[in-house]
Amino acid sequence: MTRSVLVTGGNRGIGLAIARRLADGGDQVTVTSRSGEPVDGLTVARCDVRDAAAVDEAFGRAEAEHGPVEVLVANAGITRDQLLALMSEDDFAAVLDTNLTGAYRVAKRAVRGMIRMRRGRIIFISSVVGLLGSGGQANYAASKAGLVGLARSLARELGSRSITVNVVAPGFVDTDMTAALPEERRAAILASVPLGRLASADEVAAAVAFLASAGAGYITGAVLPVDGGLGMGH
Ligand code: NDP
Repeated sequence: MTRSVLVTGGNRGIGLAIARRLADGGDQVTVTSRSGEPVDGLTVARCDVRDAAAVDEAFGRAEAEHGPVEVLVANAGITRDQLLALMSEDDFAAVLDTNLTGAYRVAKRAVRGMIRMRRGRIIFISSVVGLLGSGGQANYAASKAGLVGLARSLARELGSRSITVNVVAPGFVDTDMTAALPEERRAAILASVPLGRLASADEVAAAVAFLASAGAGYITGAVLPVDGGLGMGH
């Protein structure tokens, strides 16, 4: 049966790889982006996850095209790295608003339909640094750790309706976000990854597709690392 899927920030990077993989598996996928520019073969809804009205409209678009959203992937995220002493409150708040409150907004909108259907999958894209910490990324790591508490609370609230809520925690993935890292930082990161390389976006997408699949029906409140071993033990 084809499912209606919504992926936030699905126009590029990890979100696009997730959207393409789920679409290849037969799902009807709507991706959101801030520009709303077309993405080949996918339905696009313009949406800034900081705006609850825009989130509502994007879900309206997905529902009109493909029916109630059965799989939500909350992937949209930003970094504004800075040491704490230099980090402005604006940079802290912007990262929390996008990465954590944005995920709350889309999950809240998604569960309306999922509760009615008595089924659903919610997958939050966190990060290895949410549990490991990362100097210069206090805002980002706090937002990504927050997703774990959010997911586990929702897993408890929604389990009786057969809605699962899980977290994927990627390590360093080859996308625009990591291309922006200085060369020596990149080399230091790679030296600490047991597998000795960055992940491809599609390797993250494969884990998301698994959590969205029938085979993962009894998995909820889990944090699935896709990090080449970087976060082992956390
Ligand atoms: P990119 O920077 O390549 O893409 C970010 C995506 O998020 C874009 O689609 C962007 O849309 C969207 N986005 C950003 N802000 C907003 C907003 N306010 N409203 C709606 N959409 C928004 O990032 P990645 O693909 O690398 O990362 C995707 C997710 O994976 C993020 O949550 C990130 O934190 C996480 N992650 C990434 C890792 C990596 O190494 N790359 C490692 C661990 C986690 P737009 O095109 O409109 O800007």
